[in-house]
Amino acid sequence: MNAAVIVAAGRGTRMGAAVNKVLLDLAGIPVIVRSVRAVSESGLFDAVVVVTGEEDIAGVRKLLKEAGLEAAVCAGGADRQESVRRGLLALPQDTGLVAIHDGARPLVTREILAASLESAKDRGSGVAAIPLKDTVKRVAANGRVAETPERASLRAVQTPQSFRYREILEAHERFAESCDRATDDAALLERSGAAVYLSPGSEENLKLTTPQDIAVAERILETRQGIKKQEKTMVRVGHGYDVHRLAEGRKLILCGVEVPYEKGLLGHSDADVAAHALMDALLGAAALGDIGRHFPDTDEAYEGADSMRLLDEVRGMLEAKGFAVCNADITIICQRPKLSPYIEAMRACVAGHLGLPCGCVNVKATTTEHLGFEGEGLGISAHAVCCIEERAHA
Ligand code: MG
Repeated sequence: MNAAVIVAAGRGTRMGAAVNKVLLDLAGIPVIVRSVRAVSESGLFDAVVVVTGEEDIAGVRKLLKEAGLEAAVCAGGADRQESVRRGLLALPQDTGLVAIHDGARPLVTREILAASLESAKDRGSGVAAIPLKDTVKRVAANGRVAETPERASLRAVQTPQSFRYREILEAHERFAESCDRATDDAALLERSGAAVYLSPGSEENLKLTTPQDIAVAERILETRQGIKKQEKTMVRVGHGYDVHRLAEGRKLILCGVEVPYEKGLLGHSDADVAAHALMDALLGAAALGDIGRHFPDTDEAYEGADSMRLLDEVRGMLEAKGFAVCNADITIICQRPKLSPYIEAMRACVAGHLGLPCGCVNVKATTTEHLGFEGEGLGISAHAVCCIEERAHA
């Protein structure tokens, strides 16, 4: 089994806060809750132990319980090294691999944790690390630069640091009383003469040390949430088709525009065949049935109805379900009259009623070379397709 030790016993004096820095809020959630959740929800660990100061045990337990997180909480020691040793001792003795992680690194990802464990499984250790951007100088006590190590060979080391449980516990026991205190766990294995290997860390795997770090971490979280939201947006497609007969003594209305002609379309409403196809496409995309269901032709309320008003209602139904229209493409199949002079007005009318820019609405007309009922001038048909998107609420 694999386990994790999360160290959260530091006072965080550089944070300038009176409380343990892992209890501070990061975008509304305590840092320790974020760190434990990142580790627990990775699904990589069978047991998690949080090590914290004696005075914070009750508070940390309460926060984790409220967040629905299962982790043991134990008391740390006088420094980080001693705290980790106590955390290791609190783990089940049959632990195979252990990841040691700073409680103040709440932005750790599953990828970083998995890479660290994988390296420990293969090579005995996996210490998250990143290349340096800044050049590093070694400085003498009098402030004079003593040396400039070659940057390409340097790495900034983070946590998680994963090891074989037995090996890291032995190293901790061996140096438990040493005056030379280690600031990371890998250093103890190095001192034991064991080979230590690195695994990929990340610039985003920040250790929250100063108040500025909190501000940076909040921006990283915002970006991550923004990406999540985009991923959650579902796009849906709809199709509609309609036919109306041409008759004398009727107005010809297509996409809300009156087209001068000797005949018009026959129907209960204004018989705007193109608008009807479009409404069916929209309702279809939202799985809301069809216009026959919502505006039955047996209902007197819809006698002579302006189909653009009905389109407004359909748009309202979609919005009430959390859908927004992305675009629409309408094809009108009509032998006569010639529709090209009216196409732009139709686009503008539909776009206006859908609340879209004209660039998101297309209307086209075609004849059928005198074939079929449209070609013989008996009626006009229309097809429409549209895209709608479901807005994520997360
Ligand atoms: Mg119709």
